[in-house]
Amino acid sequence: MNLFWDNASTTPVCAAAVKACCEMMAEGYYNPSALYDKGLAVKRRVEDARKMLASALNIKPEMLTFVSGATEANNWVMQTGFKNKNGNIVISEGEHPSIYQPAFALKARGVDVRSVPLAPSGAIDVSAFERAVDANTSLVSVMHCSNETGSVNPLSDLVRVVRSKAPRALFHSDGVQAFGKLRTDLLYLDVDLYSISAHKIGGPKGIGALYAKRPLAALLVGGGQERGLRSGTENTPGIVGFAAAAACYHSQAPQCIDGLRRQLCAIANSRINGDPHCNSGYIVSVSFQGVKAEILQHMLSDRGICVGTGSACSSKSKDNRVLRSMGVSPSGIEGNIRISPSTETTDEEIAAGVAVIRECVETLRGKIHG
Ligand code: PMP
Repeated sequence: MNLFWDNASTTPVCAAAVKACCEMMAEGYYNPSALYDKGLAVKRRVEDARKMLASALNIKPEMLTFVSGATEANNWVMQTGFKNKNGNIVISEGEHPSIYQPAFALKARGVDVRSVPLAPSGAIDVSAFERAVDANTSLVSVMHCSNETGSVNPLSDLVRVVRSKAPRALFHSDGVQAFGKLRTDLLYLDVDLYSISAHKIGGPKGIGALYAKRPLAALLVGGGQERGLRSGTENTPGIVGFAAAAACYHSQAPQCIDGLRRQLCAIANSRINGDPHCNSGYIVSVSFQGVKAEILQHMLSDRGICVGTGSACSSKSKDNRVLRSMGVSPSGIEGNIRISPSTETTDEEIAAGVAVIRECVETLRGKIHG
């Protein structure tokens, strides 16, 4: 069995992106800052890529800055987006660590950071968000779609709250799990800042971009690349590969996802976390009572099935802040796996894969109770 069901962590690089990256490395290796023709040609490829991605986001190309990935984009926002030292920052408890950790570093330095809980649906608790935002709010960061559960936040509604209560605040959204999958018309969403990453949509790793309606303070200074905002010779294979991937990525959620949910629910004492009605349709978070997720993950790996185990395993702790915030019980957290199939995953593969999951879950439960 060879089932890669962890596309929320990364995706196979598509053929068009591989070709574009290879071409840039083999032939288009010139420095885009060089003034001779070959350098200028590379510069044009970079600007074409920027235009392509900007058009997918419905923004002006000059509002998009290439960075090494969404971790960098998110850190940049947290480091420079908060200007009013007497103000406050509002984030959600569902944020990726690349927002959560810099926010809490600011909190440790005395900044008023307000972390809004999630509803059992997996989306942010909108009433709690409304209470958290006030006239002193200076920066807001709420992700578009959760990497843990696939839950989608009502971004336009949240932006409206911020515009009415804190008109000068900046609204950032981590769009990594949404770009290419959900509608990411940033003009329509009316956010100020938005992070994206190539490797979640069939692009190479180590390349991402930050949209900023108005430029933030420079992240890196030096050679003045990226309009002086992010110095450093551009990752030209990555940039061109990112645009190539975005051009051929089809925003069509895996057809199999409903069947997957149904079949997982049919396993005794299992539970889907979050509300499927406010989900991107790309991620299923499921908990099996009486099972340790890491052991299940290893058993599945031995049988050729790759699934994720959320943030619990990225740290030593058995906790999972995101699921806890949604009200998932400690045993539900302990037995949680994240399944993110691809558009190519077939119904036959789902049936075969879930049968293996069922067998492993029953074996593990037998070991504990037997
Ligand atoms: N935010 C979210 C929601 C993510 O899923 C990820 C990738 N795990 C990141 C940020 C970090 O992105 P990158 O790997 O490009 O640094």
